[in-house]
Amino acid sequence: MKILVINAGSSSLKYQFMESEGGEVFAKGLCERIGIDGRLTHKVPGRDDVKADIAMPTHGEAIQAVLDILVDPAKGVIASTDEIAAVGHRVLHGGMEFTASCLVDDKCIAAIEKCIPLGPLHNPANLTGIRACQKVMPTTPQVAVFDTAFHMTMPPKAYIYPIPYEYYEKDDVRRYGFHGTSHRYVSARAIDMLGNPEHSRVICCHLGNGSSLSAVVDGKCVDTSMGLGPLAGFLMGTRAGDIDATILEYLMGRYGYDIKEMNNILNKKSGVLGISGVSSDFRDLDEAAANGNERARLALDKFIYEVKKFIGAYSTAMGGVDAIVFTAGIGENSCDLRADICSGLEYMGVKMDEEKNKVRGKETDVSAADSKVKIFVIPTNEELMIAKDTEEIVKAL
Ligand code: ADP
Repeated sequence: MKILVINAGSSSLKYQFMESEGGEVFAKGLCERIGIDGRLTHKVPGRDDVKADIAMPTHGEAIQAVLDILVDPAKGVIASTDEIAAVGHRVLHGGMEFTASCLVDDKCIAAIEKCIPLGPLHNPANLTGIRACQKVMPTTPQVAVFDTAFHMTMPPKAYIYPIPYEYYEKDDVRRYGFHGTSHRYVSARAIDMLGNPEHSRVICCHLGNGSSLSAVVDGKCVDTSMGLGPLAGFLMGTRAGDIDATILEYLMGRYGYDIKEMNNILNKKSGVLGISGVSSDFRDLDEAAANGNERARLALDKFIYEVKKFIGAYSTAMGGVDAIVFTAGIGENSCDLRADICSGLEYMGVKMDEEKNKVRGKETDVSAADSKVKIFVIPTNEELMIAKDTEEIVKAL
């Protein structure tokens, strides 16, 4: 089934037009600067990229620009938008409303709206994308796929926060977790690569600009590092991850920051950027560390140390581990970081094959032949998951 996958942000919109069976990508691209001026980048495999300035006052014009270029006789890949069987949307926060993907109807939209306080930055943008598609493609079915849904199988002891219980009951405060579509995809691939055993325990390390780990038993998530929001877990490019809440009161008192300023520091100025003062990009950190920058080295060491600790914790939580998966920008591409994370875990039966580990962006078993625990590099494919969910829901209509 030919599916248009949409990931709408506040001023951007990523799209991928693909076949849900087999995953062939016909075209993909990005609309940027929506609400400012508007720029489209459109890529078709085997052709030169197309870049165009197109006025995009709202997401409506952005969606229209995507449809126009998909049917363009020279730059497009289809004769008519009728060939788009359905649209799949990435939605950040499904709160407690969604444990799985769902067909977009009035009830679904109302439930996504209900989750806006939990995802105040992303959910409104995701909804804008959905509404814009409904307007220009009123008869095409649309499906919402949630970043949080895969984690909804966590047991209460994993998702409850140790604060007064009423905040869970009245205000839905609990661990939700994110990157769920990625964790679902790579854990399913890992189970397949393990030979589909009856019982499996997988730790997925999604290491990108935003990073999270998940513990997956028999295909079901039992714990994950992100929380009510994506600021939780271990340090990331610019996010602090879990920190002592005392730091907030201390710094706010000392510098007179309000909560918005504090939040900005924790989300945008912390993580490996905050420690190194160099960059949030791990390639820059590698280079700086190689040139003797001690804070860049410290940022990398801290990242490696925290990921290792989560791996140890999740292995204990699951009573052992059968496979560790590395995915996303850093996990798929940084051979050194993967090696550093796994080094010292030999006591758990984790042993990497250094030669096999010299791989980038390719599904590979990088564990040594005698490693008890498999180590897999698995490029994530959230779009394929969204397309597959969309197909399944639309086929059942
Ligand atoms: P996002 O969360 O924005 O989707 P990605 O998954 O694309 O992020 O990951 C981006 C991160 O991947 C950046 O920090 C980048 O430095 C890192 N990365 C990409 N290629 C490499 C590489 N070869 N070595 C180290 N890090 C890399």
